[in-house]
Amino acid sequence: MNLEKSKKAFDEAKKYIPGGVNSPVRAFKSVSINPPFIKKGKGSKIYDIDGNEYIDYVLSWGPLILGHCHPEVIRALKNVIETGTSFGAPTEIETELAKIICEAVPSVDMVRMVNSGTEATMSALRLARAYTNRDMIVKFIGNYHGHSDSLLVKAGSGVLTYGIPGSPGVPADIVKNTISARYNDIEGMKEIFKEYGEKIAAVIIEPVAGNMGVVPATQEFMDFLREITRKYGALLILDEVMTGFRLAYSCAQSIYNVKPDITCFAKIIGGGLPVGAYGGKKEIMSKVSPMGPVYQAGTLSGNPLAMAAGFTTLKILRDNPKIYEELDEKAKMLEEGFKENAKKFGIKTVINRVGSMLCIYFTDKDVYDYETAVTSDTEMFAKYFEEMLKQGIYLSPSQFEAIFISAEHTMEDIEKTIKASYNAFKNIAL
Ligand code: PMP
Repeated sequence: MNLEKSKKAFDEAKKYIPGGVNSPVRAFKSVSINPPFIKKGKGSKIYDIDGNEYIDYVLSWGPLILGHCHPEVIRALKNVIETGTSFGAPTEIETELAKIICEAVPSVDMVRMVNSGTEATMSALRLARAYTNRDMIVKFIGNYHGHSDSLLVKAGSGVLTYGIPGSPGVPADIVKNTISARYNDIEGMKEIFKEYGEKIAAVIIEPVAGNMGVVPATQEFMDFLREITRKYGALLILDEVMTGFRLAYSCAQSIYNVKPDITCFAKIIGGGLPVGAYGGKKEIMSKVSPMGPVYQAGTLSGNPLAMAAGFTTLKILRDNPKIYEELDEKAKMLEEGFKENAKKFGIKTVINRVGSMLCIYFTDKDVYDYETAVTSDTEMFAKYFEEMLKQGIYLSPSQFEAIFISAEHTMEDIEKTIKASYNAFKNIAL
């Protein structure tokens, strides 16, 4: 695979941008290959500046459930671009996106748009703290909720990959209000609530954690969290930044049949443009400024381009419920193909999959929390990743990220990927 131009572009980027990237995981640090610089995408494929073609399973880290450059999304964007890209004043398209989200997710009566998942979770915490008049929050080890101070504590994603506990620059004074708990550990939660229950403003959770691979919360754990938070007057915040509109049109909460107090969104609701949102019951959301006293604002929040891309994406998902069934079928094929091929060459793997989110761990232990996720042999993962990339399969370059499937992935793409995995496992086994 020729990556000459990408190599040059990366060297140039590194002069002006820290690490040459605007988000760490893009630098391919945990693998020994140079990151391809991407020129364009169409459907399930992306193309780099050296002319290599890849089947894309990263999909901009989740948002592109309809693939790259979906014609209807592009049309909606073109329409907006002709009439102005930002006003900082109310527009009808903001209400349309807010309304379609509220209609899709029964626990959400009102929603406030922001610009990223980080902003969504950060603002949700402020709201929860103000609403309960308490300071403490509980998050789970290996869950990632963006890079705001209170939440950058034993987080997953890039942080987990690089093994940094939190980050320098996060004040200890802020983090002292964040309790890190073990995912899927009911007994641990009981102890935490016994000790701090009256001080806890909220528990925030990824219902299916996608930042330590793919690790679903058990139904019992989710039920327990709903029950204990209610008992102690704390709020339950579901971070559906990744799972929202990916696992089901009514989001992961419909699968768990749980009604959180606040839900955080991003990724798919922006259709590939920068968006985040947080929403919940009217009683809680009415505390947000200017309706209430909890301050939160944004120059570009509700940006018309982002609103149009998001609204068009959600409308397509709403009107084509079969998309979810098909995504599930394709993901299942991939899962089974990977499993079969790994087995053929005696490579121990555990594959976790929920709908169209999937992760392959090189371990023989069941993966159900952070500790079990890190049993994966990351060197083996790096080899596998490189073998796949060389064959034109673009997976996440980090063990601790999910891969995604879009509605544009064809059976041919899936078959080609499974075939590539045969070659990859064969070469790893040598
Ligand atoms: N929450 C979750 C569950 C995420 O997966 C991410 C990003 N991958 C975030 C929050 C942060 O979102 P953003 O990168 O848009 O700030």
